[in-house]
Amino acid sequence: MESIWETRSFSNGADLVVVGAGITGLFTAWHARRRRPSRKVVVLERGPHPAGASVKNAGFACFGSPSQLLSDLEHEGEAIALHRVEERWRGLQELRATLGDEAIGFAPVGGYEVFRPDDALYTRVAGRFDALNAALHGIFGRDVYSWADGRTASLGLRAGHLAFNPLEGAVDSGLLMRRLLDLAREAGVEVRFNTAVEGWEEQAQGVELLLHGGQRLRAEQAVIATNGYSRGLLPQIDVVPGRGQVLLTSPIGGLRLKGTFHLDEGYYYFRDLDGRVLLGGGRNLDKAGETTEEDATTPRIQDALEELLRRTILPDTPFRIEQRWSGIMGFRPNGGPAVVERLSPHVVVAAGLGGIGVAIGIRVARHAAELVA
Ligand SMILES: Cc1cc2nc3c(=O)[nH]c(=O)nc-3n(C[C@H](O)[C@H](O)[C@H](O)COP(=O)(O)OP(=O)(O)OC[C@H]3O[C@@H](n4cnc5c(N)ncnc54)[C@H](O)[C@@H]3O)c2cc1C
Repeated sequence: MESIWETRSFSNGADLVVVGAGITGLFTAWHARRRRPSRKVVVLERGPHPAGASVKNAGFACFGSPSQLLSDLEHEGEAIALHRVEERWRGLQELRATLGDEAIGFAPVGGYEVFRPDDALYTRVAGRFDALNAALHGIFGRDVYSWADGRTASLGLRAGHLAFNPLEGAVDSGLLMRRLLDLAREAGVEVRFNTAVEGWEEQAQGVELLLHGGQRLRAEQAVIATNGYSRGLLPQIDVVPGRGQVLLTSPIGGLRLKGTFHLDEGYYYFRDLDGRVLLGGGRNLDKAGETTEEDATTPRIQDALEELLRRTILPDTPFRIEQRWSGIMGFRPNGGPAVVERLSPHVVVAAGLGGIGVAIGIRVARHAAELVA
């Protein structure tokens, strides 16, 4: 039972409601308030804090490894693939300038692609390495990738070949989301946690959101930024959930690994974190099983991750697993770009950021805020 004050002047009357307090939702709300500070902007998040991929990820500030980009170029064509790289690169600059390197724990450690001994992928990448660098000149004005096989031993890896990218880095995703939440609140955005949206209805003058527990909330416009969890609210859009599993070792004495590392067209990723190794991926081992919104880890993928630690990342080094978790990404068909579009007169969607969303979140969000301007 709600009082007239709750219904009339407390809960309702938002100019804009954003569903989902991930990197996309919070930046959308922030952009919207910056465009028009008088606007009442409310973010609804079902978790007790931002609870999606934005706080589950690996914290790579990256724009793609050579094998990943070559695969995109092949499947999507040069114009689309290069545009996406440019968006990621610009997004990273904007993210760092907006939130501040110190506040997000940014470390310019560089990114590597690791090729295992006898990796067939290496032959394919090596043959097109120079062409890839040349194609990226229009964006970066320089070669981005170089071979760094000589560093394999000093990083403690058992690998056949290494490619290096000095422009990538690492962030602390928890710090990043804390800073973003503060920034949104400083701009006057109201964030309500533990508030799950179960549906929405387009109305003549706006949109009505149906909340868990039966409450209804009216707003002039809504942006739905639920990414990998969008199927229930938005059955009409093509964003498929994809689970990513991660593990973290306990501290390893004398760990030599330093940087962010990609392997197998981006299907695996690992980095050092306070003397530990954070490793994720393996979704390609069970694509059907990992097409799910359920947070869980599975023995099949966790075993494969541990095997990768033993064989390639920490050969001959004993380790213990201290923590395991999963997060849900949102993928577009054939790895296409995020969907940012108006679904109805009062509702916009911004979802499907894929596996490199840290970089593009701020720009996807700006586009969504423009649509509701
Ligand atoms: C394991 C893993 C590793 C990754 N590693 C990297 C990386 O290193 N670098 C990189 O660039 N990208 C990485 N990504 C991808 C990146 O994290 C995402 O693309 C990005 O965080 C997506 O942000 P988002 O705000 O769109 O979605 P999310 O952060 O998922 O936000 C959606 C929010 O909506 C909320 N929500 C869902 N349904 C409802 C509802 N019905 N009502 C109210 N709230 C709701 C959720 O709780 C969530 O907080 C990784 C992802 C995963 C899962």
